[in-house]
Parts: sequence; C-alpha cells; structure tokens
Amino acid sequence: MKYYFYSFAVFLFISIQPCLSQDKSKDRQKKDSTSNSEFNVRTQKVSDNLFMLTGKGGNIGVFTGEDGVFMIDDKFEESTPSILSAVKNISDKPVKFLVNTHFHGDHLGGNDNMHEKGAIIFAHENVRKTLLNDLMIKASELMEKKFEEKVVKLTSNGMEETLAQEKAKRDLPSMESLELEKRITPMITFSDDLTFNFNDEKIMVFHVHNAHTDGDAMIFFTKSNVLHTGDAFVNGQYPFIDADHGGTFSGYQSALSKIQMIANEDTKIIPGHGEIASLADVKYMASMLEFITKNVDYHRIAKKTVEQVLAMKDITKEYDNKGFGNGFISTEKLIRAAYQESAQKYSWNTSSKKN
Ligand SMILES: [Zn+2]
Repeated sequence: MKYYFYSFAVFLFISIQPCLSQDKSKDRQKKDSTSNSEFNVRTQKVSDNLFMLTGKGGNIGVFTGEDGVFMIDDKFEESTPSILSAVKNISDKPVKFLVNTHFHGDHLGGNDNMHEKGAIIFAHENVRKTLLNDLMIKASELMEKKFEEKVVKLTSNGMEETLAQEKAKRDLPSMESLELEKRITPMITFSDDLTFNFNDEKIMVFHVHNAHTDGDAMIFFTKSNVLHTGDAFVNGQYPFIDADHGGTFSGYQSALSKIQMIANEDTKIIPGHGEIASLADVKYMASMLEFITKNVDYHRIAKKTVEQVLAMKDITKEYDNKGFGNGFISTEKLIRAAYQESAQKYSWNTSSKKN
C-alpha cells in the first residue's frame, strides 16, 4: 500500500500550499474570544523604541516608530489578544512586519492571527519548509488511515483486494475535509540575510547555521544596539538543541561566537527565553558549552557510557547550582544530547578501535 502514498504525498504537497492561505476567520474568532490569563504578556522596555514582551512562550521583540510596528515572534495562538493589547499600549500603529526566529510553536503559534491583522511574515526558508513538511506528514498519515479503512470495509464486503484499492484511491477525501490544523507559513523567506530600513533604523536579520534548529534567525537593530537571538541563545538555562530539526551543539557554539562578534558591552540582548542579557551572559554560555561538550567528548572517547557520564556531577555542578537545569532542558537531557552528538562526530574513533 505504501506505493500509493508516494503519489499521495506529491499530490498533497501541491494541494496544501493554497490551503494554507484560505480564510479561517470563523475558527480564529472562536479562539480569539477565549481570553486566558495563562497567556498574558508583560511589557519590558529595552531601549527608547524597543520592548520585550515576556510571559508563556518565547520572548517577543516589539520595535515602534513612524513607519509602524516591527515585531519578532508571536508566542502561542492564545497569546494574540494579550500581545495586541500590549502593542496598542506602546504604539497606535499596526504590526506591519513580523519575523519568525524559527519554527517552534511557542514562537510562531500566533502567525495566523497576526496574518489576519495584516502583518507580513518573514522567516528563514527552512522555517517554511519544515512547517509544510510537518503538514504533509500529518495529511499523508491521515489519508493513509482513511484509505486502509476503506479497503478493509470493501474487502470485508467481498470485493477483490486490487479492485478495493483502486476504488478506495478514487474515493479519497478532499484535503479540506481532513480538517487539518493548518498554519500560515512565512510569506517572505531568505537564505542568509535580509535588511530592513524601517523606523529610521537599519535592521539586520541573519541566519545562523544549524544552531537551535536549521532555520534560526537573529535580528540586530544597529542604531538601538539591541539584538534578538531567538532560541539560538537562552539566558540562565541550558539550551535546547533540536537535533531532529538540524540543531547541533557546534552550530549553537558558532552562533554564540557570532553574537560576540556583533555585540559590545552596551548591547541589550533579547534571548529566546529568559531575562534581558548582556554580552557577558553570552560569553558565560559559550564557555559553559565548551566546558561541557569537551568533557563529554573526552569521557565518551575514553569509552565511558552515557550513564557513567551522567553520574559525573562535577561536569555541570557550577551551572546546576545556578539553576540552569531547572528550565525546559534538564541536566540529564543536555548531557544525553551532547553525548549523542559526540558519538556521531567521533564515530570513526570507536568503530576503528573495536577489538
Ligand atoms: Zn525553540
């Protein structure tokens, strides 16, 4: 049966794209009206025209001025009413441009709502690719399930298997009837970098390779000297390296080096999660990751198992004491991820020395 689904997948890929922009205002209205204090945001001033919106989900950057509002990330779908009222308190202008730092749902869950309010959404090209791919996988699984159910039904009624498959294929439901949860994807994508000249400021958006994901963007406000890093830097907690979506420790470390090239002592850094940071916080994170990954590499090459490395509490003691493991990524998760990457990086080492 798998044979059919290759052609389904191609068909779906073609049919999904127009569906992404169809009008779903009824659903939106329903969800907008459910105001939930769990998703309320708080506004923090970063510089004269720049603000950070905190609360559940990734940190938002809001840049205001004569040309309108420029926003970075939009948390969850449920956060939109609170975000919009916070923006209204800062500016009477609409959100014109919205940049997604990456594809995770706690950073772009509000895209549909913001699109409906007229925002033009930008992101790295891999963000769009990943969102479409996820949708295609979901649609393909659902189609396959419906197809198999139909074949079982027809054959149990006495139809011959090949005929049943042919008929089930002809009678497949339409994309719309699958009622998939669709999400607006970024309309404008870039590969390496993008520059906005907006509100009398040069805003540089640039991609960092295979750091938190394979589609991370950072945004630097050159005049205000403010940098939004997305999750390619988080403050006061262990980072999440999303290896399933192209994230790597080495890429994350390169991204931290890039921040150190751009930022100076006065730069205000809006991290993906955590409090407003400074260059010193980034340097600390960089030295922490260097220390941890080198230790993990060393012990793994010395044939220690991941359980044995996990038992070496000294490796992370300093950071654990500062509460780095109390966030989304525990000490155990971090060490396991570092060990896994180390195993891939040095696979030649252990395989060639087997006796
Ligand atoms: Zn993330």
